[in-house]
Amino acid sequence: MFANEPKTETDHVTRLSITDLTKRGILDGMLPCTLRWQNNILGTEQKVDVAVCRKGGKQVCELSYELGAPTKGKNFHQCKVSITTTPCHYGGTRRWFLCPMKKEGVLCKKRVAILYLKDALFGCRHCHELTYSSQNKNHRKPANILMENLEDLLEMQALQREIKIRLYKGKTTKKYRQFEALAKRYLDRTCFTSEG
Ligand SMILES: [Zn+2]
Repeated sequence: MFANEPKTETDHVTRLSITDLTKRGILDGMLPCTLRWQNNILGTEQKVDVAVCRKGGKQVCELSYELGAPTKGKNFHQCKVSITTTPCHYGGTRRWFLCPMKKEGVLCKKRVAILYLKDALFGCRHCHELTYSSQNKNHRKPANILMENLEDLLEMQALQREIKIRLYKGKTTKKYRQFEALAKRYLDRTCFTSEG
């Protein structure tokens, strides 16, 4: 296994790829390990400890990392990422991260192959508002979109039952903001384009 082999990144953003974790045997061996990213341009190194566990039949990846320059005192961060699988065309299954970032209290949960470490958080490129690079364009199948829409609709329905008031002291309530964020995501997703 190559679990502790350093990665060389020419970019400023640390990427965690599910394919890489699988290739290194981290997800199958379930052994904790440390991943290292060396940035040759900035002369910095980013370390992330990865521990995998099972929770309710699902794999969960626990990421622990420190940020900041060694001289300034580091910040310790921890983040749990759920892993899901989809069947492959040619048999077997494919693993995905479920994006762990929250916006307005709503978990993104987007199924992605790569998570990016930016502003101290791991999240998908949508959450971090990173632009597409031509190599890793992620083609999403309509079937996934339908499933995601259904999940959002159910969540909106549950929230709707809980929401008693929309405004409190002139401000929209947290639950109502969550509802609005879900509704926006749902509407954004239902606008299909012909772009490949
Ligand atoms: Zn996300």
